[in-house]
Amino acid sequence: MRIVFMGPPGAGKGTQARRLSERTGMKHLSTGDILRAEVAAESELGLLAKSFMERGDYVPDSHIIAMIQKHIDDPAGVLLDGFPRTVMQAESLDQSLQAVGLSIDKVIHFTLNTDELVKRLSSRAICSSCQLPYNLISNAPVNKGVCDKCGGRVLVRDDDKPDAINNRMNVYETQTAPVLDYYRLRGVVEEIAATGSPDSVFQVLTQTIRLG
Ligand code: AMP
Repeated sequence: MRIVFMGPPGAGKGTQARRLSERTGMKHLSTGDILRAEVAAESELGLLAKSFMERGDYVPDSHIIAMIQKHIDDPAGVLLDGFPRTVMQAESLDQSLQAVGLSIDKVIHFTLNTDELVKRLSSRAICSSCQLPYNLISNAPVNKGVCDKCGGRVLVRDDDKPDAINNRMNVYETQTAPVLDYYRLRGVVEEIAATGSPDSVFQVLTQTIRLG
């Protein structure tokens, strides 16, 4: 099965994809996590991606497509989190899948109002090592700044700072909302309200994809 997780920044795609991957064994492919690892490793791609990411802009399509290509036919199934984010990425993904006789089975669209999204992003932090997300108000690490799971440093992302948050919301509306229309035309989109706790959203998610 190949599932795409969509929704604005802060809707909880990463948290839900991580959980679903643990439950099902499907491969969790987060382009944001891959790019952050490249930035930390100061690789060629990381150095190129860094300034786009800090501003909240998208990294150019060609780099993202090349990065994701080799994973899309994983036999365990794939959860795409943060990809595709432009119509060009969606078209390219379709071509690559068609070439190996596969397609996107479902697109899950997580929805949340803008005030709540901004509130969540402003209190979000992430482990710089294993990428586990935290909410500094409702789900802070037990020891300040230290990841409960791996002991890595828990930091606020540069793109979760106010200027970048605004830009990310705008970029989502102009570049990613059309991707939803692209998938809606195929009738594969399921809407999930991302209000409520991660547990309650996960319950709806498993029912929606008929695991629960
Ligand atoms: P995320 O962790 O999914 O919020 O992604 C963080 C940042 O990585 C985004 O704001 C973009 O700068 C970059 N990024 C992640 N996925 C993509 C993508 N599919 N296309 C372009 N840029 C991306």
